[in-house]
Order: sequence, then C-alpha cells, then structure tokens
Amino acid sequence: GIIMFEHVDAYAGDPIFSLVEQFMKDPREDKVNLTIGFYFDEDGKVPNFSSVDKAKVWAADNPPASPVYLPMDGLPDYRVAVKSLAFGDALPLVDSRLASTQSLGGSGALKVGADLLKRYFPDSELWVSDPTWENHHSIFKGAGVKVNTYRYYNPQTKMLDFSGMLEDLNQLPEKAIVLLHPCCHNPTGIDLTNEQWQQVVDVVKQRNLLAFFDMAYQGFGFGLNEDTQAIKLMAESGQPFLLAQSFSKIFSLYSERVGALYVVCESPETAETIQGQLKFTVRTNYSTPPSSGARLVNHVLASDALTDEWKTELEVMRERMHTMRQQLVTKLGELRPDVDFSYLAAQVGMFSYTGFSPEQIKRLKDEFGVYLIASGRMCVAGLNTRNIEATAKAFAAVC
Ligand code: PMP
Repeated sequence: GIIMFEHVDAYAGDPIFSLVEQFMKDPREDKVNLTIGFYFDEDGKVPNFSSVDKAKVWAADNPPASPVYLPMDGLPDYRVAVKSLAFGDALPLVDSRLASTQSLGGSGALKVGADLLKRYFPDSELWVSDPTWENHHSIFKGAGVKVNTYRYYNPQTKMLDFSGMLEDLNQLPEKAIVLLHPCCHNPTGIDLTNEQWQQVVDVVKQRNLLAFFDMAYQGFGFGLNEDTQAIKLMAESGQPFLLAQSFSKIFSLYSERVGALYVVCESPETAETIQGQLKFTVRTNYSTPPSSGARLVNHVLASDALTDEWKTELEVMRERMHTMRQQLVTKLGELRPDVDFSYLAAQVGMFSYTGFSPEQIKRLKDEFGVYLIASGRMCVAGLNTRNIEATAKAFAAVC
C-alpha cells in the first residue's frame, strides 16, 4: 500500500488540557479544579462581562458595512483604542515610533513577533524566565528561535531570585531577546517591584537587549495602570522593545482570539518600515485577522460608559482573586502554624506557585480531589467560598 504519513509521531497533547479532561471525569462531588488558566467566578463559572455582552448586542445590530477582509494589521480604530490601554499615559513617549498589529490573541502576537525577529535578528536567541508559560518555549522554537532561560524562581525560598535574574541578564549578548511578564507572572505569580523593574530596564538598555513583554493579565494584578509600570519604565528609557497584549482573560473573549502586537522602534522612520513588515508577517501566516473580537473590544473602549462598566467588572475579578488568596493563607496559617505560607500571600494575579512536589500534587489529586498542574501552579480563580476550606485542609494535610 501507499506509505505516506507513517513516520509522523503522535502529539502527546497538552498536559493541562489532559488534566482538565481527567478532572471532568472525576466522580467526586467535592473535587476542586485549580488547573487551567481561566478566570472562574464565585459560582465556578467562566463569566461574560456585562459590558462585553452589551457590545455583542450592538455588534449583532450593527454588522460591518462591508463583509470584505480587514487590513492585514487589523481594524484601524481597534489599533488606536488598544494602544492607549497598553501604554496608558506613557503612550506619548512611544506613539510616534510605534508599529502595531491586531493579533490572534496573545499567542498570535508572540508568534508574529517571533517570526519578525527570526527574520531580522537571525542570530539572536531568546531568554525566558525559569519557569515561564510553557508555550513561550514552543512558539519561539516553532519560529526557529533558540530558547534559553534566566534565573527567576528560587525553589528554596519560594521567592524571586532577583540577583540571579540580574546576573543572567547582565551576561547576555547584544540584541538578545528577553521575554518579560510585566504583571501577574505565569506560572509563579511572583512579580518584580518597580525598583526592580528599573534595574532590569537599566540592564536591558546598557547591554542593548531587546525586551519582549508578554501582557496577558493587565488589570488582574493591582490595576490597569499599575500593571503597566514595567512597560512605562521601558518606554521612558528610549530603548526599542516589543509587547504582546491579550484580551482573552481581561475581556473574557478567549475563543474570539483578540490581542495586539506592538513594536516600539528607535525612530518614526523605522516604525513605518516595521509596520510594513508586520503586515507581511501576518500575510504569510494567516493573511488577515478576524473582525468580531476586535469590534467588541473597540466598542467597549470607544464608549466611556461601557469602559467604566468593564473596569468595574475587572476590579471585581481582581478583588475576588486577592481575597481568595488571602483567605487561603489565613486558613493555612490556622491549620499549620508551623509552616510559613507567606510566600503565597506575596504572589499576584491569577496564579500561585505552591512549591508542592510531584508527590504532594499526586496526593492532593488522589486523596482530596484537589487538582493542580504538575509544576505546582494553582489557578487562584478556581477558589471560591465553597471549596476554599477543603482546599486549605488538603494543602495542610500534604505539607
Ligand atoms: N501569555 C501568557 C503568559 C499566558 O498565560 C497566555 C495564556 N493564558 C497567553 C500569553 C496567550 O493568551 P491568548 O489566549 O490570548 O493567546
């Protein structure tokens, strides 16, 4: 017979998605899902924003004037609206030397950025934090970029290894690409202080490195403005950099695939050239982006009333995650005063790194029905007032 695809390896699947499947099949009623990075509300549901729902009603009543393709770099109004959100009051520092494109979520922004960098910085390698979101490795490797790590998490202290991070960045060759999480680090929940960010920005500038920020959780940390401090410091430095922005979580538009990629260039002239190359990169990947998600985000951001409503809803999410994290730490302190859980309280955003060993993770799942991913990352948004007690008891039992 014909031999064609027989040499193809099976895809092992994504371990997080497999674990979610296992969770779904688990018959225990009191099981707790702290695995996948979705924002769950108090009822354990992934909610829609009412502000975005209103935009959906508007969109249904106001279809695009013409059904033709969007420009390769996306909906023009959207590109204007979302850059204000990403850069805030630092926008005037970069606006004249900014290239940008709508993207297929944060992942699509990373991929277009990786392709662009591979083409024009073929000798540059990427450095990501150890650990980082697993797909950072895969997306950049997929674009042909070699991926290395810089020190970030110290398993002994369960805190940031900032001196290790700085030491590693200080040894990178010129034009090395450095992936940075401006807020709500995935998977650890450990962020830098503004003073530490300033030191990182100084090293990036001194060594002429190319920072690539990946911002998937703006507003989940301390606030929309607060969470962009690192980006503002980089903007002030004058150093060129890239930024990937995602609206999957912060607009609950996961499946619409909506985000943006920014390239802050050294001059308006190079920004214009890069704008063209962004279009080319999109053209050679998927030609042009879809319009629905971008129209929704743009509609919310174009209306002061809807923007205020969206901001309030985002704040409720942020506050809820913060409260759940604090309550978990308080309960753990009562159950196990002999163990220091303060590191959990210091973490920020949707994730926490528990520091649990693979054996502890297995016991949590097998004995208590509490599911964390293998690295020990917990999705804090999976906690609610009904499961937090049981989660704290399970954590206390395996320590
Ligand atoms: N970056 C990080 C750090 C993420 O955690 C994620 C996914 N949650 C993304 C990028 C990609 O998000 P998107 O769904 O918008 O592609």
